[in-house]
Amino acid sequence: MSTRKDRTPTSTDAVHAGIDRGRSHHTLTPSIAQTATYTFENTATLERYMRGEDPDPEREEYGRYGNPTVRELERRVAALEGAEDAVAFPSGMAATSSALLSLLKAGDHVVLFRDCYRRTRQFVTQTLLRFGIEHTVVAAGDLAAMEAAIRPNTRLVVTESPTNPLNFCVDLEKLAAIVKSKGRIRTLVDSTFATPINSLPLSLGIDLVLHSATKYLSGHNDVLGGVVAGPSHLISLLRDTRGIVGSVLDPHAAFLIMRGLKTLALRVERQNASALALAKAFERHPNVESVHYPWLESHPSYAVATSQMRGGGAVVSFVVRGGRAAASRVVDAARIPQIAASLGGVESLIEQPAIMSFFELGDDELGKIGINPALIRLSVGIEDTDDLVADLLNALSQA
Ligand SMILES: *Cc1c(COP(=O)(O)O)cnc(C)c1O
Repeated sequence: MSTRKDRTPTSTDAVHAGIDRGRSHHTLTPSIAQTATYTFENTATLERYMRGEDPDPEREEYGRYGNPTVRELERRVAALEGAEDAVAFPSGMAATSSALLSLLKAGDHVVLFRDCYRRTRQFVTQTLLRFGIEHTVVAAGDLAAMEAAIRPNTRLVVTESPTNPLNFCVDLEKLAAIVKSKGRIRTLVDSTFATPINSLPLSLGIDLVLHSATKYLSGHNDVLGGVVAGPSHLISLLRDTRGIVGSVLDPHAAFLIMRGLKTLALRVERQNASALALAKAFERHPNVESVHYPWLESHPSYAVATSQMRGGGAVVSFVVRGGRAAASRVVDAARIPQIAASLGGVESLIEQPAIMSFFELGDDELGKIGINPALIRLSVGIEDTDDLVADLLNALSQA
């Protein structure tokens, strides 16, 4: 398998790629264009703009259609993903829902991998179904099942890699090759868990890559956002949808995400290293039943992950011996990570999926989707590795 992980962005790219170097007033950092609309000098300028003949290709008409601060964020993410273009949204789910609404119509069929963000699954299996868009859900990373699920009306294959919370990694190059051989089907990868630092899905033949910018891209747990990157002709479809449904990112949020992007490579490199150290320490611990981290040889995705990615990411999921209550004792005993949903930020966060993301499911239903009630999901922040290992080993001793 040829891999592109060696071409993933460096810290130099994270600081500089896609930056506008000719800013008005010579500011180093982006200005926040806090405006709802844009002015025209006279009716002749307006008419020229409407005919698509404005000398400024970036000129905007109204805030729902575009904003220069948001536009710079889009160029930054496109540069990091090696994409022609990108489009930003006010959340990861706004990105997912707008992308799917742009690419699908009644009568179409979607193949979705089972291990995915719960709201993505809900949007496909409930919302889109109400509008006559069918779906088949297949097991995470099962490319044979994906191929078997493809029908004449299949138009889109959606997957995450790595998946939440068990870190299955999908062989994206194989997936893209299978799907391309079937005709007019597009592929969309939610690469939130990987970040462009660890994986570049477009370089492996995937059509569109999506991020919840709420997570690593912004990196500071202080803003919501979403971005989709890919070829210009597809991104412009999504941008048109955004102008209609109004899923517009605020320019101040775009500024915060760009500020976060500068340290993306630094953060992810530290998070990769700390997460691996923690995963190895957990694997040796007598109170741990299993560890789900793709950089461990024991993980079913180890071969795919290490050939396709530059690091395993910040999410370490592990099952505590002794069941649901023992896992809760470990969560409560951890001093550094706080109990919260979300991931990818500078602060370590910890959660027990059975009592948070999957609260409404009983143990039987949890079993069906592969979630052990004693599973803990740790999102590793940028705190010192040794402090995190000591804290989590101490917490595990309370199981
Ligand atoms: C958080 C998350 C989302 C949703 O993003 P929001 O910004 O919360 O809307 C989608 N996919 C993955 C993998 C996520 O972790």
